Amino acid sequence: MHNNDIEVIIVGAGPVGLTLACELRLAGIRVAVLERRQERSRHSRALTIHGRTLEMLGLRGLDQRFVALGKCISSGHYAGLDTRLDFSGFDTPHPYTLFLPQDTTERLLEEQLLEDGVAIARGVLVEQTQQDDDGVTVAGTRDGAPFCLRARYLIGADGGRSLVRQQAGIAFDGVAATSSMLMGDVRLRHPPASPMLSLTNAAGSLMIVPLDQGRHRVIAMNARHPHAAAAQAATVEELAQASTAIAEHDFGLHDASWLSRFSDETRLARRYRQGRVFLAGDAAHIHMPAGGQGMNVGMQDAMNLGWKLAGVLKGYAADSLLDSYHAERHPVGVSLQHNTLAQTAMLTRFDARTLALRATISDMLAQPDVNRALASELSGFGLRYPAPLGANAGHADWTGRRVPDWLLRLTDGTAVGIHELLHAGKWLRLTVGDAGHAAQPYHFDAAWLTSLTIRPGCPQLAGIRSLLIRPDGYADHAV
Ligand SMILES: Cc1cc2nc3c(=O)[nH]c(=O)nc-3n(C[C@H](O)[C@H](O)[C@H](O)COP(=O)(O)OP(=O)(O)OC[C@H]3O[C@@H](n4cnc5c(N)ncnc54)[C@H](O)[C@@H]3O)c2cc1C
Repeated sequence: MHNNDIEVIIVGAGPVGLTLACELRLAGIRVAVLERRQERSRHSRALTIHGRTLEMLGLRGLDQRFVALGKCISSGHYAGLDTRLDFSGFDTPHPYTLFLPQDTTERLLEEQLLEDGVAIARGVLVEQTQQDDDGVTVAGTRDGAPFCLRARYLIGADGGRSLVRQQAGIAFDGVAATSSMLMGDVRLRHPPASPMLSLTNAAGSLMIVPLDQGRHRVIAMNARHPHAAAAQAATVEELAQASTAIAEHDFGLHDASWLSRFSDETRLARRYRQGRVFLAGDAAHIHMPAGGQGMNVGMQDAMNLGWKLAGVLKGYAADSLLDSYHAERHPVGVSLQHNTLAQTAMLTRFDARTLALRATISDMLAQPDVNRALASELSGFGLRYPAPLGANAGHADWTGRRVPDWLLRLTDGTAVGIHELLHAGKWLRLTVGDAGHAAQPYHFDAAWLTSLTIRPGCPQLAGIRSLLIRPDGYADHAV
């Protein structure tokens, strides 16, 4: 760690800090990633990578590395209801969720970062953070010895108990824990007949999903003991007892590689930006891991912030662009908080009223429109940013829309997918044919823009002359 040449300090090498570091490196920003752990966590934690996260990895040409190691599943659960969410109908190369343990996700991101020339600084505990007019100062210990670093900006990607958030004085509003779930990665002597099992009844709720190497993830909440403190040690016997009571079947749980509890504490940072300090991932939002969203939303926070920060550091854009990070991502955090609280209400109570509510919502999910609305939200495909980043106006129905990987034909006849054109992390302006009037980029340097003319004929672009696409794959505006 050399003090004089760092532009951005990221605290935390979880999936969010790593994603952001990759984005900043792509733009040539000098970044330090500080991580207190000596080694990568071996815990499987997030199993679900949703389609939009995969698409965003695809915007940088990285998606196939992840898909190759995981298992694609075309449906997902909402509160463990019987009717599953259908992801198969979205216009995307990834109409599914990918089951991939979080330790593998982190390994792949770390490998990418190493390819980009950045090694995580491990064994570094950050203890003090401060900002002034010119930059930020971060101090702590590395392998027990004190260190102090300066940079222009500081990112708190340091998880739910974020020190960066606390020292920036950013409130973490929400609701305290009322119940906790028990989970274990175990082997089963008598696995369920179908690969995935989801059950909720008066005895509690149970979910079993296959992991790799003959292991299963078992998550249970025993209706008779819903309030175990998250800190109380979990045992395989307790998990076996709860799952037998709920399923009336002994799955023969043994050989746990990881046992844990997680609570339904749900909180959201009031500000995602405080001057030169930004929060992303669990540092900005925590909730019960229902529907597999925390890591996904966090990685997408990183994809929103990375190019903006790089643009300002490179001098391509004004500082005010950075305010759009809070403006765009905080509402996503509000929705996340809302939908996980709703799921928690149905996953942690087992009285007759709640079971009736579950049956009602499950029936409603059988209606395609309702299913699609929730599938859009959880997968991330439905996200739309409400306003263009500058004063440009255009076709209102294009503003802030996710741009799928449509096939284009360049003027020389070459066929190319839109996402490939975003691999360099720059803005993309597509002009159709010899249209005289093109979508106007903001006052940024031409080095930050790829401008291409395409042949008319792409059916999805019918009716527009020019489209400006942000580096994170959302339309800014079209004319
Ligand atoms: C059982 C379970 C299942 C889950 N399933 C899913 C799922 O399927 N899909 C999904 O999207 N999400 C899921 N999640 C949530 C997901 O695991 C988190 O949202 C994700 O880990 C957040 O990533 P992060 O990088 O923000 O934070 P973290 O992964 O918490 O990483 C923060 C890092 O910062 C480091 N750090 C903290 N403080 C300091 C300090 N002071 N100095 C230096 N380093 C520091 C920590 O050591 C850590 O490595 C699940 C969570 C659990 C518990």
